[in-house]
Amino acid sequence: MPAMRFDLSTLYFLAIGTLLLSAGMTLWECRARPERRKELHFLAAGFATLATGCILAMARFHLPGTLGAIAASMIMLSGYLLLFEGVAALGGHRRRAISLALLVALALAWAFAGTRWQQEVWHYFCAGPIALASGLTAWEMWRNDRLHALRSQRIVVAFAAVHALFYAGRALILPLLVSSVGPHLLVTASTVTMYAGVLYSVGLPMALMALLREETHAQLLAASRTDYLTSLGNRRWFFEEGERYIRSAHAQTRVFLLAFDLDHFKSINDRFGHAMGDQALKLFARFARRTVGEGTILARIGGEEFAALLPCRSSAEAISVAQGVAGRFAEVAADPRTGLGVKATVSIGIAELGPDGTELPGLLAAADSALYQAKASGRNRIVLARTEPLAVAN
Ligand code: GH3
Ligand code: MG
Ligand code: MG
Repeated sequence: MPAMRFDLSTLYFLAIGTLLLSAGMTLWECRARPERRKELHFLAAGFATLATGCILAMARFHLPGTLGAIAASMIMLSGYLLLFEGVAALGGHRRRAISLALLVALALAWAFAGTRWQQEVWHYFCAGPIALASGLTAWEMWRNDRLHALRSQRIVVAFAAVHALFYAGRALILPLLVSSVGPHLLVTASTVTMYAGVLYSVGLPMALMALLREETHAQLLAASRTDYLTSLGNRRWFFEEGERYIRSAHAQTRVFLLAFDLDHFKSINDRFGHAMGDQALKLFARFARRTVGEGTILARIGGEEFAALLPCRSSAEAISVAQGVAGRFAEVAADPRTGLGVKATVSIGIAELGPDGTELPGLLAAADSALYQAKASGRNRIVLARTEPLAVAN
């Protein structure tokens, strides 16, 4: 069987083609993700600049002296740095100083050692800043909290980190290998580098596109679970998250469901307008959130209906939280300086999760019937399921 050979210029042509395609596809993605336009422009510019660097690297022998090698390596490094800036921008960061420092380091190496040690600078030293740029890209992606829950994030990190290690090997280990094995190793090293480059030029853009698609998907999913007006979770989120919460919390603590319904809300709309009604809903959401605490399940499950799931030691504690929400809301709504300057109250039904861990719909139904009693007995009331109505303490 004939030995398989990779022709270096074929690999260059392949890398140039895939990089230009990646640049085009990244630009195309701007249409789907206009809010990520800046980051995508950086990435597309990075791929196009790397392609230009490859063209210059192929053509460098046709340029006088070290000019070709200097231009090719500086442009190539600029491509890696644009990718680094793009990835940093995904996390809301700018890293211009680091990028500039790496470019200056490479320029100084060419200025001081380029004429005498052109081969060494080209084959070994140039790989150093590239390794750093790729390593920093991996690091920026890794520490991006906004993308942390996404699976593709780790793939991007892996691609950039492996590339960084490869180039670090070229800068630090290859000189030792060449001095012990012989200069013919440089040809093999160049071929392997270009092969790695081709893989990188396909893999990295694919992983980045997958990441951005995954991000869109996560945003849509979050939007489908969020109430647009109040930014609380919506009914769907309440049932999904509530079931999960009940399963995990039930063994450790008593769980209470509070069902809230604003009183005579239709008349607030009728008398003061729909916009004022919206303000009242937002105000209620804000004060209910503050009173029940950040980590608690609180959702808008209907027009002027809200529900919360609370871990409480006793029914007295659940009633006290409900009193806190009702009292605070009425007080703030009535105050024209902090709220709306209108009389607005809320009725609340409370039910406790039974020892058998009743399903959430059953628990909500129990709290709803307590809420119905609160409405029937005059509104602005708190009723614990299967107990007498309690007047709000104010
Ligand atoms: P009750 O004390 O019996 O609960 O009386 P209510 O008027 O609050 O109850 P009803 O169910 O008759 O009316 C609820 C009103 O809530 C009707 C609807 O127009 C209003 N509403 C629902 N969603 C919104 C919203 O997003 N914004 C505004 N401004 N009003 C809303
Ligand atoms: Mg209602
Ligand atoms: Mg109502």
